[in-house]
Amino acid sequence: MPLVVQKYGGTSVGDADRIRAVADHIARTRRSGDDVVVAVSAMGKTTDELIRLAEDVSAVRPGRELDMLLTAGERISMALVCMALADLGIAAESFTGSQAGIVTDSVHTNAKILEVRGDRLRDAITRGVVPVVAGFQGVSVEHDVTTLGRGGTDTTAVALAAALGADRCEIYTDVTGVFTADPRIVPGARRLLRVSFEEMLEISATGGRVLILRSVEFARNHHVPLEVRSSFTWEPGTWVSEEDATMEQAIVSAVTSDTSEVKLTITGVPDRPGIAASLFRALADASVNVDMIVQNTSHDGTTDISFTVPRTELAVAVQIAEGLAPKIDAAAVLVDDAVAQVSVVGAGMKTNPGVTATMFEALAREQINIQMISTSPIRISCVVDAASADAAVRVLHDAYGLASSGDGLRPARAGG
Ligand code: ADP
Ligand code: ASP
Ligand code: MG
Repeated sequence: MPLVVQKYGGTSVGDADRIRAVADHIARTRRSGDDVVVAVSAMGKTTDELIRLAEDVSAVRPGRELDMLLTAGERISMALVCMALADLGIAAESFTGSQAGIVTDSVHTNAKILEVRGDRLRDAITRGVVPVVAGFQGVSVEHDVTTLGRGGTDTTAVALAAALGADRCEIYTDVTGVFTADPRIVPGARRLLRVSFEEMLEISATGGRVLILRSVEFARNHHVPLEVRSSFTWEPGTWVSEEDATMEQAIVSAVTSDTSEVKLTITGVPDRPGIAASLFRALADASVNVDMIVQNTSHDGTTDISFTVPRTELAVAVQIAEGLAPKIDAAAVLVDDAVAQVSVVGAGMKTNPGVTATMFEALAREQINIQMISTSPIRISCVVDAASADAAVRVLHDAYGLASSGDGLRPARAGG
């Protein structure tokens, strides 16, 4: 029998009606002859509410205890989904991450999956029972409960699909697939029928949160085909899979934006060998994830170095930069926490010059100033003022002709 893993996100199980609708869909899939394994997120905004509660209670919040708290959210959904399935005459059993055999490292709140044992799930499937697994959680090699980072139920679902050799993994959410831009920002965004892992990795890495980055990496590494679909309309969605000859090589497939990073600038840095090395070594040793870096050409023997870091790592990064500045004779450390990164992603970019020029021209027309630039073979990203982020996404979406009428294959305006 074909095996399908179905993941239901927070909005999809947001209230009792939604849970019954999800159970109904699981029951239909089961009755159509497929074996089903389910991964569920916490209901609605439960995880956000639990984090807020923790913040109200304590300034310290040890990772182990935070994980213990947050995993409660998914426990609620898995039990309720099983009850709704029982109502429909479908045998189902809930499993925590630990019971499902999801073994992780010990990095609380952002653990990585090391192994999925899955014996109890296989046993349940053999008995004709639908296993419903709490997403976003695992158990460390030290036997403590861990979580996989925000949005981690996507990772749970893909990891289960890989471990159980599922034929496909369906990610049910509140939009009908992966779009050319976040449909909340660009109402005319178009749903993509198919997208390659390569492009999806860039989309997820630059703010397209419909699939969390780690789940896409996992799916690509383990060859798990994904389908992103709506749990509201149930219509066919977007397939994420290996690139093949039938796939359109759109010059630009999607436009994304991300406000999760902040910019630091160290001014008046002496322009001599070893300065950048000492700064970025100190940041690396403190586990700060530096993303973009720009160093200006020097005037009078000094230069400015700007770089972006995740907002959550700002305090540590500032502490390190301010500690180092006097030692390297730098002038000052400046922080800009109101920046956004806007990116255009497309596999066809590799063979089509002019994509960058089109991007810069479009931003210029909107009077949006570009603060930093970085590229990969299939992505161009610009750091802009956070207040301009949505406007930037809309103007770029338009400039590359990605709206419903366009095919995303050719830029709408000159520039190649
Ligand atoms: P879930 O709770 O189901 O995991 P998420 O909120 O994590 O849902 O992800 C779905 C959301 O991702 C959508 O509601 C949409 O606003 C957002 N999103 C951002 N970029 C895109 C994109 N390119 N295509 C589709 N959705 C996107
Ligand atoms: N509930 C978790 C979160 O909100 C995991 C998930 O939804 O995927 O991040
Ligand atoms: Mg999500």
